Amino acid sequence: MSASSLISPLTGIARPFLPMTRPSIDEETIEGVCEVLRSGWITSGPKVKEFEQQLSELFGGRPVRAFNSGTATLEVALRLAGVGPGDEVITTPLSWVATSNVILNVGARPVFVDIEPFTRNINLERAEAAITPATKAIMPVDLAGFPVDRGHLARIAAKHGLRVIEDAAQSLGSNWEGKLIGSTGDLVSFSFHPNKNVTSIEGGCLVMNNEAEAALAEQYRLQGVVRSGVDGMDVAVAGGKFNLTDVAARVGIGQLRRLEEFTLARRDLAWGYSELLDTPEIKRLGLLLPLPDFKQSNWHMFQVVLPGRRLPGGRAAVMEAMKELGIGTGVHYPPIHLFTLYRQMGWKPGDFKYAEEIGRNILTLPLFPAMTMDDVRRVVDALTVVLRTQVQS
Ligand SMILES: *Cc1c(COP(=O)(O)O)cnc(C)c1O
Repeated sequence: MSASSLISPLTGIARPFLPMTRPSIDEETIEGVCEVLRSGWITSGPKVKEFEQQLSELFGGRPVRAFNSGTATLEVALRLAGVGPGDEVITTPLSWVATSNVILNVGARPVFVDIEPFTRNINLERAEAAITPATKAIMPVDLAGFPVDRGHLARIAAKHGLRVIEDAAQSLGSNWEGKLIGSTGDLVSFSFHPNKNVTSIEGGCLVMNNEAEAALAEQYRLQGVVRSGVDGMDVAVAGGKFNLTDVAARVGIGQLRRLEEFTLARRDLAWGYSELLDTPEIKRLGLLLPLPDFKQSNWHMFQVVLPGRRLPGGRAAVMEAMKELGIGTGVHYPPIHLFTLYRQMGWKPGDFKYAEEIGRNILTLPLFPAMTMDDVRRVVDALTVVLRTQVQS
């Protein structure tokens, strides 16, 4: 069967495959990229500066620097915070593995604590209880764009003298109690991967506290190089090669201008999902819905939790059946501590009950700004039929 279009066995109507996500790149942006390509300057230059300036304005004037990925951005944030060998960083096991890989990459040790089952984000009480003399930082993740409690986070950090590196890869456009994520806090890292709410194809940005941090971030971004005068050059830190290109930055500029529109579209579609899935039958089938937050979350993803114990074929069979109905779904994420690398470091099944249970059964449904309410209805109808067929009572 073709994955690009199919005739629905439910309606007999031929419809294109509905992917889990898809970026919306407009013609103005494509034309802008062509201009950059014709300009003679295609790597980091004026467009990166312009993109950083716009991001800084968005975050209330805080210093911002762009990087070639959200992973690089997080790694630089850890270096700026002085995290290195011997240090511990407290984080969540339910995230994209980049979150903890970067901690290993700077020579420190990730310390996982379990999540709260309703928000699916790090449990901050458990995080505070996990603090030791070696703890240097906390790295929370706003899973699916649902923000971690920034007030609680700041209180813990202040009380214990910790740095906070917000992995806000998924929460551009989200806010906590009306304050845009990135406009407050310590170090805040975003990703512009194509699946994220705003993309620069690949890329990321870091929001910092002052110009000194920004200057150091520039060094880590490009081989540690510091230029001075007409021909002066020095290297004081072992920097990497993490710079964003002007081509990518121009995509980001075209996207950023639509941030509000994208966030509203996602919230509206998520609201539609929540309404249509709020039925006695769906409850009986045991499907768990995300918290209905249509004010703070940017709805980076709409994630349901399947009734795993009542599904003989597990999540895989549900995903297969959805695919046959022309609908893409995704898994975000298997718990990090059960990957081979992390098991070798001592973690094992049973360590984090909620992260494991949710990691096994979480399912991401299609959600992107160009989707329509009709698409939402189609997903809900298909999921209802699939669960009706597969869930054992
Ligand atoms: C996407 C993502 C990253 C990494 O961003 P890249 O741009 O893909 O390197 C890190 N953490 C989280 C939570 C993410 O979703």
